[in-house]
Amino acid sequence: MEYIRVFDMLKIGVGPSSSHTLGPWRSAQEFTQHLLEQDFRHRVTKIQVHLFGSLSLTGKGHATDKAIQLGLGGWDPVTIKPDEIEAALYQMHHHKQIMLWGVKSIPFDPKTDLFFERTFLAFHPNGLTFKAYAEGQILTEQTYFSIGGGFITQEKPTQLPDNAAPKNVPFPYKNGEELLAHCQQQGASIAQIALANESVFNTQEEIEEKITAIWQVMRDAAYEGCHSEGILPGGLAVKRRAYTLHQSLIKNTPYTGPEDWITAIRSTEVKFKEILKWVSCIALSINEVNASMGKVVTAPTNGSAGVIPAVLFYYLVIDNHDAHLEEINEFLLVSATIGSIFKQGATISAALGGCQAEIGVSAAMAAAGLTAVSGGTAEQVLMAAEIAMEHHLGLTCDPIQGLVQIPCIERNSMGAIKAINAATLALDADPKDAKISLDAVVKTMWETALDMNANYKETSTAGLALSVGLSDC
Ligand code: SF4
Repeated sequence: MEYIRVFDMLKIGVGPSSSHTLGPWRSAQEFTQHLLEQDFRHRVTKIQVHLFGSLSLTGKGHATDKAIQLGLGGWDPVTIKPDEIEAALYQMHHHKQIMLWGVKSIPFDPKTDLFFERTFLAFHPNGLTFKAYAEGQILTEQTYFSIGGGFITQEKPTQLPDNAAPKNVPFPYKNGEELLAHCQQQGASIAQIALANESVFNTQEEIEEKITAIWQVMRDAAYEGCHSEGILPGGLAVKRRAYTLHQSLIKNTPYTGPEDWITAIRSTEVKFKEILKWVSCIALSINEVNASMGKVVTAPTNGSAGVIPAVLFYYLVIDNHDAHLEEINEFLLVSATIGSIFKQGATISAALGGCQAEIGVSAAMAAAGLTAVSGGTAEQVLMAAEIAMEHHLGLTCDPIQGLVQIPCIERNSMGAIKAINAATLALDADPKDAKISLDAVVKTMWETALDMNANYKETSTAGLALSVGLSDC
């Protein structure tokens, strides 16, 4: 298999879901590219899309329909500005047209051209098929699978972890044991191993630029969430909470924008009882932005996008006021490396593994990053990741009405707090005493995913989604 890059695990994108928004968006972009490659540019007169399985059951709440229209319309989830999204959707909705590649107008009405099929495709719960027509005759048909974290594939996913170590980097690993062996043989940290592997694809300067861009999106999303009031879209009437929480914490401390905000927070001398409030505030803020189709970093998914930034903020504003980009880089390199072990050995798709695959994995990634920048050894980093996941095993995915709001937004603050605790325990422990390895917990997570009732895997047909109706919210 190919090496899973840091920038595969941490991607800039648009909320609310990596598998149900970003993946379908990317699929639509790939389909329009396929039409160009087949030279169908002038012939195509109609496109229809069929959503299967979890994409169909929770697609409306996860904005899958909107993502597909934006992808077909030539918009890119990395470069689109949040205020362009509503305007573009309004235009498409109002005119019932899509501007393919931004240049060719064809009719597209989600009511008649987008089909929410109740069936599941055989290979993966997140399947979608695009069909292009010319004068009533089908030109081409392509099926994609959105396999979690914004990754898409056209190959038939086996639903089994790939146990072959990637070959295209100097220090390939498929699990914690192999990663640790590289660290020991090279006398290197996990961040140094990640950097050496990443250097196959980019120069050091490019890598740093990309990580800085990721950090800035995290920071800006946190800032936006802390400065936005009101009700989240979708119909559940969920009130944004980060704004009030932030106001109560920042008080009258002056700052001018996201750039000097962290310095301002540092100057407030956070009191002990405010620490958890700050962590929760950042986690909530990012997932409120995510829930309103804002720009966030998929880490490793959009539903769990708040965990890693919340723990990183904790490190920057509570733990180490001297930390700057160097520590941020190390934190994110280590987090992404641990995430790739979960992707290889288990899954980061809630449709396959429930919420343990989202919040559980993000907590493990965050715990690992925090342990590394706090001076932990590679063994302690793996131990922190193991502890964080161990206490998320079996967590189900049951979002009310398919919206990434309840329990998702609050769940990010819980994941962040568990991650900090996991790092604290690991930093104070001798990993030789650990009874459970990271690899054992990854395997257990996957086996738990296989055993989990399908209703609890992002279908909104069980759990809170079933027992709490709209009138209860
Ligand atoms: S319950 Fe967890 S896995 Fe499911 S949508 Fe929400 S955050 Fe994602």
